[in-house]
Amino acid sequence: MSQLKFCQGPQCHTYNTKDRKRGPKGNKRNETRRRSHFGYLDGNACSMQCQDDWFKVYGQRALQHFGYLTQPRVLTKDNAWVNRRDWRSEGNDRYYAYNHLTEERRPITEDQYQNDTNITDDGRLAI
Ligand SMILES: [Zn+2]
Repeated sequence: MSQLKFCQGPQCHTYNTKDRKRGPKGNKRNETRRRSHFGYLDGNACSMQCQDDWFKVYGQRALQHFGYLTQPRVLTKDNAWVNRRDWRSEGNDRYYAYNHLTEERRPITEDQYQNDTNITDDGRLAI
């Protein structure tokens, strides 16, 4: 059984929906949603509204914490890798890393495709 967690939207409790009502009859109050899984903010917000609320409060601080870009990032053949799946193909060539500048293809495993373990966050091959 998975652990319940709270929506991280700072205004979640202010939205008036039936499922946010908690407490005894006559003394109901709205509470932050609690679920095992959420579909927004990488699994941490219950709705696009709550995700947007989170960003309005914390987005600027996140940029300050992780740092702003101070020069443009440049796409080269070394960081142009993405993982792709050929839906029509079966077997070994179904999953592949694709370089969208050189159009080179390299076969990968299904696990590498699912988890992006073969490509770094900035598009470089890690293997
Ligand atoms: Zn929420």
